[in-house]
Amino acid sequence: MKAAVINDPVDGYVTVKDVQLRDLKPGEALVDMEYCGLCHTDLHCAAGDFGKKPGRIIGHEGVGRVSKVAPGVTSLKVGDRVSIAWFFKGCGHCEYCLTGRETLCRNVLNAGYTADGAMAEQCIVPADYAVKVPEGLDPVEATSLTCAGVTMYKALKVADIKPGQWVSIVGAGGLGNLGIKFAHNVFGAHVIAVDGNPDKLKAAKENGAEICINRHDNNVDEQIQEKVGGVHAAVVTAVTTAAFDQAVNSLRPDGKLVAVALPQGDMKLNIAKTVLDGIIVAGSLVGTRQDLAECFQFGAEGKVHPIVKTRKLSEINDMIQELKDNKVVGRNVVDFVHNKD
Ligand SMILES: [Zn+2]
Ligand SMILES: [Zn+2]
Repeated sequence: MKAAVINDPVDGYVTVKDVQLRDLKPGEALVDMEYCGLCHTDLHCAAGDFGKKPGRIIGHEGVGRVSKVAPGVTSLKVGDRVSIAWFFKGCGHCEYCLTGRETLCRNVLNAGYTADGAMAEQCIVPADYAVKVPEGLDPVEATSLTCAGVTMYKALKVADIKPGQWVSIVGAGGLGNLGIKFAHNVFGAHVIAVDGNPDKLKAAKENGAEICINRHDNNVDEQIQEKVGGVHAAVVTAVTTAAFDQAVNSLRPDGKLVAVALPQGDMKLNIAKTVLDGIIVAGSLVGTRQDLAECFQFGAEGKVHPIVKTRKLSEINDMIQELKDNKVVGRNVVDFVHNKD
């Protein structure tokens, strides 16, 4: 079967080649891929930014159908449509795995990095970790919900945002845009979008943001305090430390900052404000299997539609280049069903 594997030596790109899959082990299932999205995290894996993995199959936004199960598998059957996410497998028995925080497992496997991923015609998955995709959900859109969608859905859960409360989504790109849709359509929140790009702010408005603020205005936090008395929560997807500083100052008392983006460096956190205003700061990392199942269901109900475009596997290095050059709107998704080379 054809797969996109990280080059040896590692150089930020991949080679499409024939790979022979091993036999299934107990507890595993074979998935015939239908679609797999290309994510910025795949670029980091291909470049060796988290550690060099030459020969590894990339991809963690995969959706396909189960074509074979190993003896003893009870959670999946042949024909089920499932997803392959960044959270590929936890150890299953540590403090985090046992208490609904499995993405923090110290012995986690990640698809396309520490386990062979989904940018391939087939993928072997641990059956209990492959989350089912509801039949009512478009499988192309499901690829983006597997990563960006569940990341933002989970961040809003961590933000503990309630209907009618104000939440700011700082950074209205791929993640932020989905965050605005979830905040507005699923959580029933009032949304403020903050971004430096006027086109992205325009899209934010169309997706339900009531207030849009350009982050290059030097008084973003003051504007938010003036307009709504501060937000109940700020979810930061912008990859700049300045965005974090602004976001923390835009909170109302008992407000919560949820960090999703990973800029290098530290954020400024005024200790007096933190204590006197009871500020809470939390990080949020992708989502658990249960979060993903909930996220898929909202997608199936039509509440959230990611922007997706299908491409061929043979174009994978062009797709990588376009993502590096920041030319991609929404998500490029490899179509393994129709675009056979
Ligand atoms: Zn991703
Ligand atoms: Zn664990």
